[in-house]
Amino acid sequence: MSQILLKNGYILTMDQNDQVYDGGDVLIENDVIKAVGLVAPSLVKPDAEVVQLNGNYVLPGFVNTHVHTSQQISRGVGDDVDFKTWLHDRMWPYESNMTEEDSYISTLMCCLELIKSGVTSFAEPGGQFVSGMVRGVREAGIRAKLAKSVMDCGDGLPKIWQRTAEQELDQQVEDLKRFDGSADGRIRIWFGLRTIFNDTDDLIVKTKALADEYGVGVHMHVAEAKSEVEYTQQVYGEPTVTHLHKLGVLDKNLLAVHTVWLTNEEVELFKRYDVKVSHNPASAMRVLGFAKIPRMLKEGICVSIGTDGASSSNRMDMVDEMWLTSLIHKGWRLDPTVVPSEDILRMATKNGARALLDDGVYGSLTPGMKADLIIIDPRGPSMMPVNDPIAALVTAMHSSNITCTMCDGKWIMRDRKILTLDEEAILDEACRRGAVIYKRAGITLPNRFPVMKM
Ligand SMILES: [Zn+2]
Repeated sequence: MSQILLKNGYILTMDQNDQVYDGGDVLIENDVIKAVGLVAPSLVKPDAEVVQLNGNYVLPGFVNTHVHTSQQISRGVGDDVDFKTWLHDRMWPYESNMTEEDSYISTLMCCLELIKSGVTSFAEPGGQFVSGMVRGVREAGIRAKLAKSVMDCGDGLPKIWQRTAEQELDQQVEDLKRFDGSADGRIRIWFGLRTIFNDTDDLIVKTKALADEYGVGVHMHVAEAKSEVEYTQQVYGEPTVTHLHKLGVLDKNLLAVHTVWLTNEEVELFKRYDVKVSHNPASAMRVLGFAKIPRMLKEGICVSIGTDGASSSNRMDMVDEMWLTSLIHKGWRLDPTVVPSEDILRMATKNGARALLDDGVYGSLTPGMKADLIIIDPRGPSMMPVNDPIAALVTAMHSSNITCTMCDGKWIMRDRKILTLDEEAILDEACRRGAVIYKRAGITLPNRFPVMKM
């Protein structure tokens, strides 16, 4: 039995009462939290590892509820272009030219950035190679809900993606049987639905039935772009969420991503069926629009935060996304009181855990829950002085303030050094592979300034 004692920290438990312990301790035993706050000396074994926090912050690890691991090494592929160019000329050629090994390296690269920004759990909406993602996550030491990118219709799809609903469902069940619960239970396999443009009603309904049967979630991009609801209005005579409701798939195990174009009635539907929301502010600001997050929070809908993929928002950094979340709704609502910092900390921790159907497993520092946590050192000119700690963690913190990340009771980063992966080797290999895929896919990016190669 191994124990780790974190001593004298500013402990934000994010538990039911959002209890904070200033000068408190956390005792970890194997993979779980044993005690928080005032830890009785009798609980601590003589050989426990003792870490002096000197007032540093301890938070539950962040939960990134939407991140495309396979897009990590495509970074830069879609900056400053319109949506159609991004998708048809850049993203589809790029992703359809990836191999399983590329997916593995891209996942490792993504995990480096996730761990360095304090993420201990994430949800992947779907690349082509779940097996590659599984290898990456297993080595990185964090948790993930992995899904395949699932499509059975749509114009202009690359040939290798032209598949039937049955083929897509069979593949997912096969992946689930092979990988679900692997890496000490850190990896779960979910069902994916790319978008309503690329998924038939038949596929959507059958996906929901299978997710229920296997007790997992469905990860889907929902009402993300204006063009999407215009499309559903034209084809089905109703907007996306109303259509999904008619299909009977709105439920507590649906993780709906972006959810920008919802009517107020559709927000009500989310509330009624306990649909989970992943809010991705950087992506939203780039092209999608502003989701009704203040209204959703007021309704008590479980809203979490995601980064999206490196091809659409570049920064897979939860700290940046938290900061953006704190700003954008104040801006478009012209109301600086909406979406306060305490809401954002909840969204990034316990709401994330709920959204991934892991309520009570992690997401708060509570005895009996998994030891997924981070340590934050505010020292430095960008965060100090800290007069309002809760706000500072959202408005002033950078991911570079996160010094240590622990998942499942194991240190995966200490003093900014990742312990599970060879960071330098992954950076080199990821850059090499990224360039090869650009070439194979025939993607050339225009020179923005005249360049003279010297
Ligand atoms: Zn996405």
